[in-house]
Amino acid sequence: MKAAVVRAFGQPLAIEDRPIPAPGPGRVVVRMEASGLCHTDIHAAHGDWPVKPTPPFVPGHEGVGIVHAVGEGVTSTQPGQRVAVPWLGYACGTCEHCLTGWETLCLQQQNTGYSVDGGFAEYFTADAAFAAPVPDGIDPIDAAPLTCAGVTTYKAVKVGNVRPGDLVAISGIGGLGHLALQYAKIFGGTVAAIDITDEKLQLAKDLGADLVIDSRTEDPAQVLQSHGGASVAVGLAVDDKSFATAYAGLRRGGRLVLVALPAAGTLQIPVFSTVLNGTSVIGSIVGTRADLATVFALHRAGRTRVVATTRPLAAVNEAIDEVLYGKAKARIVLQP
Ligand code: NAD
Ligand code: ZN
Ligand code: ZN
Repeated sequence: MKAAVVRAFGQPLAIEDRPIPAPGPGRVVVRMEASGLCHTDIHAAHGDWPVKPTPPFVPGHEGVGIVHAVGEGVTSTQPGQRVAVPWLGYACGTCEHCLTGWETLCLQQQNTGYSVDGGFAEYFTADAAFAAPVPDGIDPIDAAPLTCAGVTTYKAVKVGNVRPGDLVAISGIGGLGHLALQYAKIFGGTVAAIDITDEKLQLAKDLGADLVIDSRTEDPAQVLQSHGGASVAVGLAVDDKSFATAYAGLRRGGRLVLVALPAAGTLQIPVFSTVLNGTSVIGSIVGTRADLATVFALHRAGRTRVVATTRPLAAVNEAIDEVLYGKAKARIVLQP
């Protein structure tokens, strides 16, 4: 089988022939149908973050496919079932975080496509308990982006506590942002979409944004303040400056939810106005298995639209360039 492998940081991924993996105890082998390319995979391949994966590794944490084989002790799924394998590849289930609905904060966690090999391969393995069933009626090409971009932004909108009528700024209308916008609408928000390409701003309009802000020509903070300020801003653009402008666009009591992870990303905030305005800055990391089930249910009910273009797995390096140069429509999904 083919797998796309990071051999060294900053180098193109190598397409390698590997044996189809065997399922260890408690694990499943999945035959990939669709595997989304998240910007996180690019950060992983570049070694952008303080905690780095160890090459060689296979990225990909939006892998969707059919269970091909199950290992000893697996009862939660069986061959033939469609599953999705997210970033949260394992959590202990017994620590305080796991027991209080915050398995995404578990210190024992494994991350698919980062600390363990991921979905950029014709076959890949997963912990059975973290391979989410994909409900019938959801196309695998839709399911893939929902598995990270969907669950992450659903969660971000939830922790931002968006309420009906809130002005919600979505900064960055890429893979994550095009779904964040839709969840903000589902929660009742009025959405201001911010991006730096004409195509993304048009996409935001098509998806129901109430206001679009071109941060090449307008100051998002000023535009947001002219509308009373955002109650919630979700930072999804891979650019430090975009966090600072989103922060400055908040109204009193506003909440900035940080999601994007630029290399060496930092945000400087003034203590005085943060205190006086009662501003919250919240970090948000992916979502739980329960959040993902909700994301699939919303999609199955026709509440969300996934914008994805497909590319062959072997074209992963060209696909990465498309994302980096702002050419991807929203999400690129790799296929065998
Ligand atoms: P993407 O490349 O698809 O989207 C980024 C978007 O931001 C693009 O549309 C781009 O045009 C836009 N943009 C760039 N600069 C901008 C600016 N100054 N102002 C406004 N928009 C700007 O990336 P993605 O896959 O959506 O991922 C976004 C980020 O989120 C990445 O850093 C990724 O690692 C991170 N991420 C975090 C989590 C989490 O759990 N916290 C999960 C998944 C991804
Ligand atoms: Zn991701
Ligand atoms: Zn735990």
